[in-house]
Amino acid sequence: MRFEISKVLDAIEGRVCTDPSLARAVLDLAEVIRYQDLDGGRPASLLRLGMVIDALARELEEDSVPVYAVVHRALLSDADLTSNERMVVRRWADDGLVEVLDNPGDRMVEVADLLGLPVLTRVRTDGLRGRYPWLVEQPGRVLAPVPGAGGPAFVAHVGGGHTPVSGDRSPAGVKLLSRQWRCPEPGCALFGGGGGGSFADLARVERSPAAQPPPSLRGGAPTCPRHGVRLGDAGPRPRSEVLAVRVGGLIRRRFVLTEDRPALVGRAPDQAGGIVLGQWLNDEARRWISRSHVRFELRVGEVIVTDVSTNGSGIRPGGSMAESDRVPLAPKQSRVVAEGDMVELYPGVQIGRPGELPAGAPYTPNSVMAEAPTMAMRLPR
Ligand SMILES: [Zn+2]
Repeated sequence: MRFEISKVLDAIEGRVCTDPSLARAVLDLAEVIRYQDLDGGRPASLLRLGMVIDALARELEEDSVPVYAVVHRALLSDADLTSNERMVVRRWADDGLVEVLDNPGDRMVEVADLLGLPVLTRVRTDGLRGRYPWLVEQPGRVLAPVPGAGGPAFVAHVGGGHTPVSGDRSPAGVKLLSRQWRCPEPGCALFGGGGGGSFADLARVERSPAAQPPPSLRGGAPTCPRHGVRLGDAGPRPRSEVLAVRVGGLIRRRFVLTEDRPALVGRAPDQAGGIVLGQWLNDEARRWISRSHVRFELRVGEVIVTDVSTNGSGIRPGGSMAESDRVPLAPKQSRVVAEGDMVELYPGVQIGRPGELPAGAPYTPNSVMAEAPTMAMRLPR
């Protein structure tokens, strides 16, 4: 039992991040873990975070949707959590996967404002409508996770409905996210680098500068939300582009490409940070797709794909599914992936910009709560 729970927690770990390009909703961890009515269990449980993430994936009809969690520092020693759960949350905090704060205040809503994300909360946010008009003007931007028949469901605070809606990044968010920031506090997990070689820094998960969370704006100055100190400007943030892997008509995961970080995609790429497709492939697709099949790079703002496979791949210009439009990409060949283009590794296994991948098959959720994906899904012919 204990072993299975830690596997579930590992799966949940893959769905928390502070990366502005990948997070799909904002929530307050201390609030979510106390939704006792979701399962009638202990006063606090980290598994409820997994239930809410699953509900989000169902609503967005996409697998692997990460959430941006703000965490009150008291939670790291909350006696209502198991010691294992506390240890897991501390690890997330150390790795900068969640944002730990002495006093979260309105930070959850601020992050949602800066990034244009929906907020998942039962707390009324009406009091902040003056500063953040979208809280009441955009239905679906604030949703309460509530018990539902097949797991948690959402109820929008304004206008009913149940689908989380994203907006645009606020002008302040666009400005803040165009720069990199440094926290003067040594070993800061969110805006690290300021301390210069502390042991804490060495233990950090290496984070691309493009993945830095949004600073907090205090008195108009970019501030570290964790340490409350003013951040230093460390130059322009590297360009980035988000791509998505779709298998069998469903987006399985998104990934970020930056100029200093190419991405290898395949059945099981050797490179750290490679995008592993194996778990979603049937036997034929597994045989066809190489361990490393294609490499994506971002060069002066253009996405370049290079085939590194044995069998080759193809491009579907403008996402066209007509066979006559498919352009073969032979092994070792490169090509610019233009807006709307889709790279196809095998029929039904495609990579492109997430907003441009046409909607596909009905959604069969891949639960974060399942201990491990054991069934390879069948691809449509
Ligand atoms: Zn800091």
